[in-house]
Amino acid sequence: MSQSRVALVTGGTGGIGTAICCRLASLGHRVATNYRNEEKALAWQAELKAKGFDITIVPGDVGSPESAAAMVRGVEEALGPVEILVNNAGITRDTTFHKMSAMQWQEVINTNLNSCYNATHPVIEGMRNRKWGRIIQISSINGQKGQYGQANYAASKAGMHGFTISLAQESAKFGITVNTISPGYVATDMVMAVPEEVRAKIAAQIPVGRLGTPDEIAYAVSFFLPDEAAWITGANLSINGGHYMGW
Ligand code: NDP
Repeated sequence: MSQSRVALVTGGTGGIGTAICCRLASLGHRVATNYRNEEKALAWQAELKAKGFDITIVPGDVGSPESAAAMVRGVEEALGPVEILVNNAGITRDTTFHKMSAMQWQEVINTNLNSCYNATHPVIEGMRNRKWGRIIQISSINGQKGQYGQANYAASKAGMHGFTISLAQESAKFGITVNTISPGYVATDMVMAVPEEVRAKIAAQIPVGRLGTPDEIAYAVSFFLPDEAAWITGANLSINGGHYMGW
C-alpha cells in the first residue's frame, strides 16, 4: 500500500462521492467529507461504518468561502493536514438558457465552480509548504461538449478544467498535481432523476452500451494519487464509455 494520506472529498455523501470515499478508505487513506444536513450525514456515516469504512464528517457548504474554510479546519483538527482534495460536490438546475433565471445560473456556478476556490484556497498553502498534494476536480462530459438545457452546468464544469490547468502550472514545482476527471453519465440520483426513456436514449449513444458506475469514477480518482502518478498534472481524464472522445 502507498502512504496513508488525509483526504477530503467534498459532496462525499452523494452517489459518486460515496464511492470515492470508500475507495480511498479501502486504500488506507484517512477520509473526510462535508455535510449540510447532520441527521442525514450521521445515518450515511453509520451505514458505511457497518460496511467497514470509517469516514469523518464535518459541517460545510462549499458554496460559501467561510463555511468551506471552517470545513477544512474541521478536517485538519480531526485528521491532520489535508493532502488529497477531491472537489466533487455539484448540482444541476437545468433549463434552456432563455428561460434560465439569474438564480439558476448563480447557484450552479457557485456550487460547482466557486467551490473550487472555496475548498482549495484553505489547503493550498499547506500543500506547498509540505511539497506534496493531490487536487482533483470532478467535472463532466457536458463541460467538454455542452448540453441542451445546461448552459449554467456546462459553463461551471468547463471552468473547473480552466482552474485545473492554471493551478497545475502554479503548483507543479511544489510536488502538487492538479487534474480533472470528466465523467460521462453515471447511474446516481442525479441521473436516475432523468426520465427512463431519456436515459435509454443516452445509453444508446454510449459505445460501451451502458451508464457508468460510481466505482468506475472512484477508480480514476485513485489512479492520480500514488507517487507513480507524480508526472500526471493538468490532465483531463474522460471516463464516459466512449460517449465523447475529445479533449
Ligand atoms: P449527487 O447529487 O448524488 O451528490 C452531490 C453531493 O454534493 C451531495 O453529497 C451533496 O450534498 C453535495 N453538495 C451539493 N451542494 C453542496 C454544497 N453547496 N456544499 C456542500 N456539499 C454540496 O451527485 P453525483 O454523485 O451524481 O455527482 C457528483 C459530482 O459528479 C458532481 O459534481 C456532478 O456534477 C459530477 N458528475 C456527475 C455525473 C453523473 O452522471 N452522476 C456525470 C458527470 C459529472 P447534500 O446531500 O447536502 O445536497
